[in-house]
Amino acid sequence: MILSHSSRESFTRCRQAFYLSRIKRIGIRSSMLPLPVKLGAIWDKYMESRYLGIKFMDKFWSMIDEYGIESDMDVAKIYALIQAHRTLEIEPQYETADGGMFRGCQHKFEIPGEFPIIGYIDRVYSDHIVETKLTARPDFYFQIHNITSQIGTYFLSNPEYKYAVIESTRVPGLRTGAGKYSDESPDAYRDRIIGEIISKPSYYFLGFNRDTRTFGKKFWRNEINLEELTQDYFYVNQEIARAMEDGDNAFYKNRKACYVPGPCFYLPVCDTGCVSEGIFEVREDKPIIKEESEEVEDAAS
Ligand code: SF4
Repeated sequence: MILSHSSRESFTRCRQAFYLSRIKRIGIRSSMLPLPVKLGAIWDKYMESRYLGIKFMDKFWSMIDEYGIESDMDVAKIYALIQAHRTLEIEPQYETADGGMFRGCQHKFEIPGEFPIIGYIDRVYSDHIVETKLTARPDFYFQIHNITSQIGTYFLSNPEYKYAVIESTRVPGLRTGAGKYSDESPDAYRDRIIGEIISKPSYYFLGFNRDTRTFGKKFWRNEINLEELTQDYFYVNQEIARAMEDGDNAFYKNRKACYVPGPCFYLPVCDTGCVSEGIFEVREDKPIIKEESEEVEDAAS
């Protein structure tokens, strides 16, 4: 059995969600994902492209199509964020002041054991890691309790990682379509957002430093109790194995988690007992417990 940290989080939050996602392989269609998740996926790909020196705008428009983002105003939000990021000259850091050297993006790791743990890290350096987030609540990821499992798992994968940087970015949320903005065009809305971001960059790029043109918050390895995390994995693994032996009923619903910290994707399934083909799809891939899109997990946050 292969376990990712997001699988573990899913199981501990609600066994039924774990069952639907990891065992029944029921996933939400890309076009039905919440907007912040779609924008987050585009943002991740943009950041990755920046570091890998790959042209992005063709990919940008194909992702807009893939995710079915039809509102020009929604497109304007992510377009403006990318333009503002460039205007602020937040350039890729291939070498840090600490001597860390860039090693790559979407780095796959595997922690061996009876239940191997796998995952992908957004960006890795020789001595640290970086995780990018795009969210309406960027400060959520600056609270260590909310990231302990994720970055703790990354620390477990490599003793060379001394610290992690969380690059947390706010989804632009300026209102439009009412009052003096009732006739605002998408282009005007885009330009207004760019102006807003440039005028207060640290509100959108948390921890923005004007001198170094970097942003984010650093968490040191010793801030996380890795011994406790390892122990947690051991017991959660045992519980998952036991539930799988016991059968479907062992994956009971935790109704207290349905709206905490945000609405669960599986509410329509749990409320009606039906899996709508218009909303969900059954994934074909074989392994039952492998890494899911972290951003999809985060969407519930
Ligand atoms: S809707 Fe509620 S009970 Fe159903 S999977 Fe999600 S959290 Fe669990």
